Amino acid sequence: MAELKKMYINGEWVEAEGGDKLEVINPSTGETVGIVTFGDSRDAQKAIDAADVAFKSWSKLTARERSKYLYNLYELVRNDRDQLAGIVSAEMGKPLREAKGEVLGTADNFMWYAEEAKRVYGETVPSSVPNKRIMVNKQPVGVVAAITPWNFPVNMVARKIAPALAAGCTVVLKPAESTPLSAIRLFELIEQAGFPKGVVNLVIGEPESVGQEFTGNKKVRKVGFTGSTRVGKLLMEAAAKTVKRVSLELGGHAPFIVFEDADLDAAVAGLFESKFRNTGQQCICTNRLYVQESIVSAFTEKLVERLKNAKVGDGRDKATEIGPLVNERGLQKVLDHIDDAKKKGGKIVFGGNRLTDGEYGKGFFCEPTVVLDVTKEMKIYNEETFGPVVPVVAFREEAEVIELANDTDYGLAAYVYTKDNSRCFRMSEALEYGIVGINDGAPTQTQAPFGGFKESGIGREGGRYAMEEFLETKFVSFQI
Ligand code: NAD
Repeated sequence: MAELKKMYINGEWVEAEGGDKLEVINPSTGETVGIVTFGDSRDAQKAIDAADVAFKSWSKLTARERSKYLYNLYELVRNDRDQLAGIVSAEMGKPLREAKGEVLGTADNFMWYAEEAKRVYGETVPSSVPNKRIMVNKQPVGVVAAITPWNFPVNMVARKIAPALAAGCTVVLKPAESTPLSAIRLFELIEQAGFPKGVVNLVIGEPESVGQEFTGNKKVRKVGFTGSTRVGKLLMEAAAKTVKRVSLELGGHAPFIVFEDADLDAAVAGLFESKFRNTGQQCICTNRLYVQESIVSAFTEKLVERLKNAKVGDGRDKATEIGPLVNERGLQKVLDHIDDAKKKGGKIVFGGNRLTDGEYGKGFFCEPTVVLDVTKEMKIYNEETFGPVVPVVAFREEAEVIELANDTDYGLAAYVYTKDNSRCFRMSEALEYGIVGINDGAPTQTQAPFGGFKESGIGREGGRYAMEEFLETKFVSFQI
């Protein structure tokens, strides 16, 4: 029997009040990789109380002092990269090479916000009244409750807690229930980094119950969430009752647009990155591929060639480029989208099936898939597929593809491949998306703003933009 992993509240590793437990499954093999304690609102409340007490002293530390803890954590995460990456890969199937990249990105976030903590400036504003002076200060929001998804189980945590801690907030985190083990390892490193008790707390538990405590508890001043648009809306509605701040990083449905003048090899490489990274389970994943009419055959052939050489397998195998889906439900959704497209006239030119031979049979594997003749009526055209499927849509002109690309409630990421400089500008301005990759299939960087338009979210993570999310603006008027 594996050792029971606990949650971290007020500087101590504790079991859930209710005594429940949860098994964590490796999606490559179906094997149990860990057992964790599984709590509810009672544990969340304890953690919020601890964070509330800790806020009083943490927020009073100088930025330089807070920065030291974050820098310690940066070094610990970097040194632990192999172990952390192994855990990420084991609990969610991510290819090891990508998991290492995720862990290094996690470390980079702690480093970035160790630095950013020292750059929170207020300002003085000229007054229109001669005997008054206007001072504008920035102060931490207070206790932050954060909820993260399973697809980037450590980096999503870092992107929330690093700027919050840098700004002087204290945090209670709830990771996704399918990937708590990497969050637990991260919190072991947080403990080693010496953060005072109660400053960073980990609650693993029943999502609705913990979520209700996060949104309803008056001590929480901000809720930061990454996950589906459906849950984001629920949390926003619930947070309205106590007028809490919210930051929401939600779903996406990225268009990837290839014009006939594009470098097709670069476009295929960019598409592979944007579509198949994390087995298509990214919010910024391509979900609609628009290819200009004249190059549909040439482009599809190159894409299929690339996919023939893509190694699908156990995430922990170094050669693996495409891993399993996170669970049976995730796999069934992908297969349903493929099936629905076929029924509505879509043509499968590569893949299309669950992989079941040999070792594949134990996990949740789907062939990388390319579907031609995709139309607006298909689920794949409208819903987030979250899997390794490329739906191809032909277009004729720039104005037409802009309209098609924007015709969605999502607005997270979009991609454009073209060699025409003027078109690069026109497209980047016309696309209603928070992130636009121009000849770039992997635009994310620690210092750049990350977030969506429309129903893809509110607020930004990344760089100095994230700091603003955790700061209140205070106006002090001096009469002299
Ligand atoms: P999800 O919304 O089901 O779950 C996300 C988190 O919310 C998990 O921790 C889950 O336990 C929790 N949760 C679920 N129901 C809840 C409730 N009623 N109250 C409180 N918490 C609840 O999403 P998922 O399937 O884990 O993740 C995939 C989704 O996340 C996709 O839609 C993807 O696009 C999105 N995502 C967005 C970004 C971004 O930055 N915009 C990044 C990664 C993933």
